[in-house]
Amino acid sequence: MKLHELTIEQASGLLKNKKITSVELTQAVLDRINEVDDKVGAYLTVDSEGALAQANAADKRLTEGHAAMLTGIPLGIKDLMCTRGLRTTCASKILENFVPPYDATVISRLKEAGAVIVGKLNMDEFAMGSTTEHSGFQVTRNPWNLDRIPGGSSGGSAAAVAADMCLGALGSDTGGSIRQPASHCGVVGIKPTYGRVSRFGLVAFASSLDQIGPLGKCVADCAILLDAIAGYDRKDSTSVPEPVPTFLNIADDGLSGVVLGIPKEYGTTKGIDPQVSEAVGQAITTIESLGGRCVEVSLPHTEHAVAAYYVIAPSEASSNLARYDGVKYGYRDKEQTDLLQMYRSTRSKGFGLEVQRRIILGTYTLSAGYYDAYYRKASQIRTLIKQDFQNAFASCDAILSPVAPTPAYPIGETVDDPLTMYLSDIFTLSANLAGIPGISVPCGFSKEGLPIGLQIMGSHFSESTLFKIADQFEKTAGIFKKKPPL
Ligand code: GLN
Repeated sequence: MKLHELTIEQASGLLKNKKITSVELTQAVLDRINEVDDKVGAYLTVDSEGALAQANAADKRLTEGHAAMLTGIPLGIKDLMCTRGLRTTCASKILENFVPPYDATVISRLKEAGAVIVGKLNMDEFAMGSTTEHSGFQVTRNPWNLDRIPGGSSGGSAAAVAADMCLGALGSDTGGSIRQPASHCGVVGIKPTYGRVSRFGLVAFASSLDQIGPLGKCVADCAILLDAIAGYDRKDSTSVPEPVPTFLNIADDGLSGVVLGIPKEYGTTKGIDPQVSEAVGQAITTIESLGGRCVEVSLPHTEHAVAAYYVIAPSEASSNLARYDGVKYGYRDKEQTDLLQMYRSTRSKGFGLEVQRRIILGTYTLSAGYYDAYYRKASQIRTLIKQDFQNAFASCDAILSPVAPTPAYPIGETVDDPLTMYLSDIFTLSANLAGIPGISVPCGFSKEGLPIGLQIMGSHFSESTLFKIADQFEKTAGIFKKKPPL
């Protein structure tokens, strides 16, 4: 097996047994990026020099015998987590040359574990989008079919993992941005419970919904990554001082006694591709054969999730993005001499059209006279969605559903049709509105050979249960070993 094709778990074992070095492994990943990223376009910045220096340091640590699971493992980072000394753009022209003076907490934790940061991955600008076409710099292509979207907004992260251009990656999920690209690219991705992972140093999109999480080639790799980044951080007032179990200790005792909820509303969702229903249906049968018991549950307010999310997220975004004014940092239109003109022109030239659309939407829904009709109403729906989940989890341990209504669609299909793009988030948004965790695990392929994902959602802080179900399913289905034909 080629070094870049290893999982984190495999590579970690080989590093510890001195069968390979981190420099060899990192070089193999850098070579792989050179070989295929021209076609895929996953990376915005590759830090070859820095990565090899970190690999050297990791090799020393491995020799000294105090290595952690991630010591020497090459990882990619979505370009909206601050990396000290390494450009962090959020895929936006407005931050094109922004070099953070500090590390996000997740980055400090990866560095403490001895991980190697290979580079920064493409995304929809400020994480607004579901296709990675809304990057200010480049389109990322799906490694399984280069004419298709990789999903988004963490499309660079999912594509890089799928194409073996890193062993694992971090993404962020505000309304599905880890799970949906994971599903489209045939990798595993988990959005942890809100508050489980520190957001310090994550550039904010919608602060009450944003959460960082891992993408990996298999369930165990996501558990290893979450072990490294989870836990309370006094620098993030929304991080939760809840004890963090060792996620890698995935229980291997079958699924008997596990009750799985199947939401009755999801079967009648409009626009769902029959191939997705079929693959998810088969996954449910597999999980039942492992001993899981399925019951019907009801999430009656799901139909309002898209409307509520697309009021709440843009409202928070319009406030969060007010800081990019051309004064303190980032791009400034230097030709303007009048202050107001400078603001206007900097923001018009610095932000892409999707980001401008969100700012305008959010400013409108927060403005006097409209706040009650939109923002307050959306917040009320959010409460009802949370209650739906509470009621459902009274009778089940986890909920199974599709991740996206269709497999990855052709590049360009929704660029001029934002509403269709927004509607495709129907299965993922609710978890963010409720703050609960959700994992996407590959469960099949369409007839065109495009991956399809199964979503498993659980109650707050139930990540271990999600890992257990996903892992047992993955081991039985055996899908993750298939590679894209690059
Ligand atoms: N697709 C959703 C949006 O455009 C979610 C994005 C995300 O999770 N960052 O807002």
